[in-house]
Amino acid sequence: MPHSINLMTSFQAPSEQVLFCDFDGPIVDVSERYYRTYRLGLSNLQASHQENFGEALPLQLLSKNQFWWMKRNRVADTDIAIRSGIPADLVDTFLQQVQRIVNHPHLLQWDVLQPGAESAIHQLKRMGIRLVLVTLRHPRQVQAFLQANDLSQHIDEIFGASDINAAHLNRTEQKVALLERAISAQKAQGYYPFPTCMIGDTEADIIAGQRAGIVTVALTGGIRSHEFLKRYQPTAIESTLLKAIQSRHMLQVLQAA
Ligand SMILES: [Mg+2]
Repeated sequence: MPHSINLMTSFQAPSEQVLFCDFDGPIVDVSERYYRTYRLGLSNLQASHQENFGEALPLQLLSKNQFWWMKRNRVADTDIAIRSGIPADLVDTFLQQVQRIVNHPHLLQWDVLQPGAESAIHQLKRMGIRLVLVTLRHPRQVQAFLQANDLSQHIDEIFGASDINAAHLNRTEQKVALLERAISAQKAQGYYPFPTCMIGDTEADIIAGQRAGIVTVALTGGIRSHEFLKRYQPTAIESTLLKAIQSRHMLQVLQAA
């Protein structure tokens, strides 16, 4: 089951407008962590190959720009591995390794706040908007990052995925299920989450918002390019969370309660 943590300690009159927002992408820049994970994966693979066979693999390290461009344009991880010179029979080993280490604390420390995210969150709070995060990260990880950045008191609720439920649903279906759960939970607490909006940086966020029948705002500052996001026809496309909440479109949604 997804975990949820209610961070509010005080009671609030349930009249606030609710905004649903993804975490990685809108709030956190994960590009450095992903790139360092990729690099570490390659060097681990090289080391173990050399140890076992006494010879080096002809690996070709992609630059961060090349790597991130591919991620943003949804080049498959398998293709990224092959373009890095990994022999086809070692691709799975490499990808499993990357999966294993990507959430290690040594790599998580490379996650940083997106430019403007902090101002955006403060601005939402000043507007009296209830901010609910819907993320495939584990809520404990989300909370640790928010606390480290002195933002946890501004986030009203987190709906995150545990490792366990990652197994049987793909990422889009997980997002759809989590957003559905997050919306029902707001209603159950007496909030009226319509009209509302889902802000995120991937197709999963757009599809989840569309299935819930709410406004969707796609952000291009994360792990998908503008061209890629456009195909999913979100209500609006913006570069950052700050730009999104300052857009005329969003102000209309938020004031239409
Ligand atoms: Mg995201």
